[in-house]
Amino acid sequence: MGYRTVLEHIDKACRDTQRARSDVTLVAVTKKHDAAAIAALIAQGQKTFGENRVQDAATKWPALRAQHPDVALHFIGHLQTNKVKEAVTLFDVIETVDSERLADALSLEMKKQNKSLPCFIQVNTGAEDQKGGVAIADLLALYRHCRDAGLDIKGLMCIPPANDIPDLHFALLHKLSRELGLTDLSMGMSADFDRAIAFGATYIRVGSALFD
Ligand SMILES: *Cc1c(COP(=O)(O)O)cnc(C)c1O
Repeated sequence: MGYRTVLEHIDKACRDTQRARSDVTLVAVTKKHDAAAIAALIAQGQKTFGENRVQDAATKWPALRAQHPDVALHFIGHLQTNKVKEAVTLFDVIETVDSERLADALSLEMKKQNKSLPCFIQVNTGAEDQKGGVAIADLLALYRHCRDAGLDIKGLMCIPPANDIPDLHFALLHKLSRELGLTDLSMGMSADFDRAIAFGATYIRVGSALFD
């Protein structure tokens, strides 16, 4: 698709579903791409990026960030507690809080670094064993725990099962976020970001479509 075409598709999806374009932020997922490819997107005006591995981000991003201080970096992968310190140093937003243990580690580290990074709770909407995210039955308790720990929870995030119709998961995440009074929804990837916009996504995480 390429970057320009993805932007056009986002514009169209917003028009078609009466969403304000300013309500939808494209998170450019650059996990498979090097600093030169990222710099090319920044040169075209892209400001929000996502990476799913702390280690990879640590090799690419400090130099990019020094040159482009207005760029925001989202963590979208599974976060191990032993990587929390580095993640809080490197990232601006953590999208994948999915356990009380992780919430506590993030809260402690943010206090140490005197930061308050916006966070999302990742929900395992497809109840997949191998996937991260909190089970729906445990979401309310985790949300309360995060709030009590002082985390700034902005919204919910999900990765629908690869072979399911994504609409059901997007609608479910939207409903869950409304029940908690949260506004932000991170959902939709290359194959289905237009559907996610229809269901209220405020952040879409697009990787491969930007580059193929
Ligand atoms: C890789 C990844 C994406 C982007 O997926 P594409 O299909 O390449 O657009 C989005 N979200 C997460 C959590 C990812 O790991």
